[in-house]
Order: sequence, then C-alpha cells, then structure tokens
Amino acid sequence: MFTLPEEVKDFMDNLNKKGYQIYVVGGAVRDLLLKNETSNWDFTTNATPDEVLKLYPNGFYNNQFGTVGIEIEINGNKNIFEVTTYRKEENYTNLRHPSKIEWAKTLEEDLARRDFTINAIAYDGEKITDPYSGQKHLKDKLITAVGDPDKRFNEDALRLIRAIRLASQLGFQIEEKTREAIKKDAHLIKHISGERIRDELFKILRSDNAAEGILFLKNTGLLKYILPELDEAFLVGQKSPKRHHIYDVGTHSIMSLKNSPSKDAITRLAILLHDIGKVKAYRKDQTGLITFYNHEVIGAKQVEQIADRLRLSNKQKEKLVTLIRHHQFSVTEMQTDKAVRRFIRDVGKENVQDMLDLRVADRSGSGATPTSWRLELFKKRIEEVQKEPFKVTDLKINGNDVMKILNLKPGPKIGETLNQIFNEVIEGKLKNEREELLKKILDLRF
Ligand code: ATP
Ligand code: MG
Repeated sequence: MFTLPEEVKDFMDNLNKKGYQIYVVGGAVRDLLLKNETSNWDFTTNATPDEVLKLYPNGFYNNQFGTVGIEIEINGNKNIFEVTTYRKEENYTNLRHPSKIEWAKTLEEDLARRDFTINAIAYDGEKITDPYSGQKHLKDKLITAVGDPDKRFNEDALRLIRAIRLASQLGFQIEEKTREAIKKDAHLIKHISGERIRDELFKILRSDNAAEGILFLKNTGLLKYILPELDEAFLVGQKSPKRHHIYDVGTHSIMSLKNSPSKDAITRLAILLHDIGKVKAYRKDQTGLITFYNHEVIGAKQVEQIADRLRLSNKQKEKLVTLIRHHQFSVTEMQTDKAVRRFIRDVGKENVQDMLDLRVADRSGSGATPTSWRLELFKKRIEEVQKEPFKVTDLKINGNDVMKILNLKPGPKIGETLNQIFNEVIEGKLKNEREELLKKILDLRF
C-alpha cells in the first residue's frame, strides 16, 4: 500500500513480536493517504501504557489521555510517537474529558470513539481498516463525524473546533449533518478551556485557509463564544463620505487575514484583531461621517483580555498588544529620522517586520494595493536609520541633565561628560537607560 519509514516499521514489529496489536491511526494515516509528509505519528494498541513503558522506559506517560509519548529520530528529525491504548469513551460528565478512561478490547471499538471518519482509519503496515468510509471522505474532501454528530459534540465539545481546524488545514468542506450539528451545539464550546481552544485556533490561523476557517467559526456561531469582540465587529459598518472603506469591520478583518504575508500565528491573530477597538470607538456625526478615534488604544486593551482568556504566554501577549497598539503608525515622508527611530523603539526591533506585514494585510484587506510608494520609502528608511551608528545624541540623557545635576553653566565640560558616559555605554559598562545614566552623572559630582 504505502511504505512506512524504517523506524516506524521497527517500532511496530517490536510490539507485534511481544504479542501486541499495533496500528498507525489519526493524522499520520490521513497524511499517508493524502501523500503529505508527516512528523506526528499516532498509534493505537492493545498494550496498556505500563506495558508500552516496559518496552520503552524513556517514554513519558500522559495520564489524562492514556497516551505514552516516545521520542524517536527519523532522518535526523525528532519525532514523537504517541501511543494510545484502545479505548472506549463513556461517562462524559463535563463535556471535556471522559470521567474515566476505559480500555477497549478491539480496534473497532477504539475507532468508534474517534472524532471524524478521516481520523478513524487504521493501518497495520499491510492492510487498512476503515469502518466509517474515511478513505471515501478523504477523496470527497469532507469532514464527517463518526456516528451521530450531535451526540459526539455533546460528548466532547472540543470536536466542534477540531472539525473547523481540520477543514482549514486540509482545505475540506464539512459534511452537512456535521455542519448543522456544529451550529446547534456551538454554545457547548463554553465548557472548553482557553488553552485547548487556543491550540486549535492557532492551527486554523497557521493554515492555508485561515480566513475561511475564521469565517466558518463566524457562520456556525462559534466565534461568538471564542472571540465575541470580533463577532460584534461584523455589525459595524464603515462606509461613509470621504472614507475608502468597502467592508464592515468584521469582514475587513477576515479579508486582512486572507492577505497576511506572514504565517506566524500571533501576527495573524493581530491582523485579525487589529480593528476590534472600532466597535467601541464608533462615532457618526450629522454629516454621516464615521470616525473611530483611538480605536487602536481601545483595541490594545481588549486584546489583553483576549490574550489572558486564551492563556497566551507573556511574550505572545506583549507582541499581540504591541502590534495592535501601534497599527496606525504613519509612513509619511515628512517624518524625521528621530520619528522613524521612535517607531522602531515603540514597536520593538523584533516586531518591525510583523508590523509592516500587518499594514500590508490591512491595506489589501481594504481593497487597496498591498503597498504604496510611501510605505516602500518608510521600509527603506527603517533600514537606513538602523545602519547609522549609535551617537552621543542617542543617549537617554542630554546636556540639560548634566548641567542640572552637576550644577554647571553651558561650556565644554558638558560635552566631555556626555562623551565619557557615551564611551562607557559603548564599552558595555553602562546601560543606555535613563535612570542608570542619571545616577552615573550624580556619582560624577564627587
Ligand atoms: P494533527 O496531529 O495533525 O494535529 P490528528 O488528527 O493526528 O491531527 P491528534 O490531536 O494528534 O490529531 O489526535 C490523534 C487522533 O486521536 C485523531 O486523529 C483522532 O482519531 C483522535 N482524537 C483526537 N482528539 C479527539 C477528540 N477530541 N475526540 C475524538 N477523537 C479524537
Ligand atoms: Mg496527531
């Protein structure tokens, strides 16, 4: 049928020799059938976690899901083999995890508890077991629940967003009954933790069909629970005299995401959320002119809450907030070098490219050309000012500080003092931070 990497074969042979059944399942089989590369190997076996650990003592056991992870190198790349014991799932109490995991006896039972038909295909190295027509659905590009979709979503509401994530990654449609059940059961997503939603949301954002995925969240009613701030933005029109906007704020957000030059999940999330502050900032005057003053400040505040809800790391949160807070940056050719440098400092060197990508996405998402001569000039100037060497005038203190603290009149002593401090900063003895430099001047008094 298809050949498995040697490492995978050896691994399966090893378990077979000990008398266990073992199959490749899930994403790996999907990828094999679609001829996509895979680095995520999921297995199902009748060996219990303890029995797997006895054979692979370096494995780590995730108690919650009954999965043993084993690190195995394939062609120099680290792969995690995720080995799960045949399971049935019953006794769901909180829509999140089965209240207890029960081992199943057969492969068929295990496949029956899996979420979608394309994920319920098993391969033993020779033959395929496919009780739910998963291969047909792969051909038809359809995400279809195993069994009664409504019942399956009630068992585990994470499946609601997994369906959309898989559709976005694979470019598939969602089968009609499954889709209708997602709409009916969308509210159940409230029971799912922020981090699990985040993991699926990020996979949607990184996928080739990110915009379609988010639109699907909107149209099924899931967005209202996951990102209510964005959901509301679809009600905010921005067509007005003297304005170029053609879309409502929500549609503009999705169109911007569709045009993202970056594949980074946080940058894409920032692109998606950059205008959510417009919902609260919306004003319309007597002439019909619509304005959104300070929407970037309002949006940055809202996005802090979103970041907390989705359990982003501090670093991710900071980047998201920064990109939204500064997305209205000006690219006029009238700016001084100092202003360009301030932009770099405000946004952070490491975020400059993402900030520019957001602007390109924002422009395209409004129906404009991706760039303009001003934006191109601005990019050049960013490069240029960064090439310029660090100068005395870049210090976070100036002559006035020196005169004040040392009680000096204007004269050569001022410049000498600044030069002395400048040299110490270059040599790395001092940090270019105002507090530290002011203290240093104070020390020079004695
Ligand atoms: P990928 O690894 O590419 O993210 P995957 O389909 O392998 O996709 P995993 O999270 O690795 O996803 O899960 C492996 C398999 O376990 C799935 O293919 C599916 O059969 C099953 N599975 C995962 N999550 C669920 C769930 N919430 N409900 C039922 N089955 C699930
Ligand atoms: Mg997987």
